[in-house]
Amino acid sequence: MIEIKSLHKRFGTAEVLKGIDLKVNKGEVCCIIGPSGSGKSTLLRCMNLLEIPSAGELTLAGIRLSFGEKLPKEREVRLLRGKTGMVFQSFNLFPHKTALENVMEGPLVVKKMDRAPLKKQAEALLAKVGMADKKDAFPSQLSGGQQQRVAIARALGMEPEVLLFDEPTSALDPELIGEVLKTIKALAEENQTMVIVTHEMGFARDVADRVIFMDEGRIVEQGAPEKIFSNPSEERTRKFLAKML
Ligand code: ADP
Ligand code: MG
Repeated sequence: MIEIKSLHKRFGTAEVLKGIDLKVNKGEVCCIIGPSGSGKSTLLRCMNLLEIPSAGELTLAGIRLSFGEKLPKEREVRLLRGKTGMVFQSFNLFPHKTALENVMEGPLVVKKMDRAPLKKQAEALLAKVGMADKKDAFPSQLSGGQQQRVAIARALGMEPEVLLFDEPTSALDPELIGEVLKTIKALAEENQTMVIVTHEMGFARDVADRVIFMDEGRIVEQGAPEKIFSNPSEERTRKFLAKML
């Protein structure tokens, strides 16, 4: 589903991604862990071209792009982005739209479908994340956990091949983290392809097919969660986990 080859990203003179190679299979759940500033968000944002990589290659859902001096064409960027859904730390819902309108907005604008079937679809998605009874609420009337579940429904509304999560629970009060993780876990059980940046080590262990440890712009090590958490090969992974667990 995703193939990344020698991907580099520079901001000015700072090289933030220093040659990333990564494959994600269809239906796979990959959790990316690593210290703050190691390039996790940048890598995720490169996957849907919120950041344009400086060099390397990205294939996602059959769309292949190479990066270098020339920027990718607007059309290619839009096409690839349409295959992904992104959930941010800070929910980013439209404040003046209800939960239902938030979920309908993307497909309404992009797919130019009729309202009636879209409304049905949006209601089904809200039910899926346990938010059916809050469909007419505005974001300000919802808890952080509820807002994040609406944001997940909204991402699903575009029927993405790949869902990308950037620390989906780190802005939440501790008592609200569980409901969001449970929602993501239910998607994992439906074999939704997902890449999840997270600080929740217990969750990563539970839900990931593969855990990827990043440090200083590189993938240091990756493998099954049992292996990474119980018996990492690299000293840097060990040190990071000792601080986290
Ligand atoms: P992580 O998500 O692992 O904490 P990030 O990908 O956010 O790491 O950031 C990696 C590095 O890139 C950091 O040093 C950060 O300051 C830098 N960085 C991220 N985004 C930008 C940007 N838009 N401009 C300049 N530097 C950036
Ligand atoms: Mg980050």
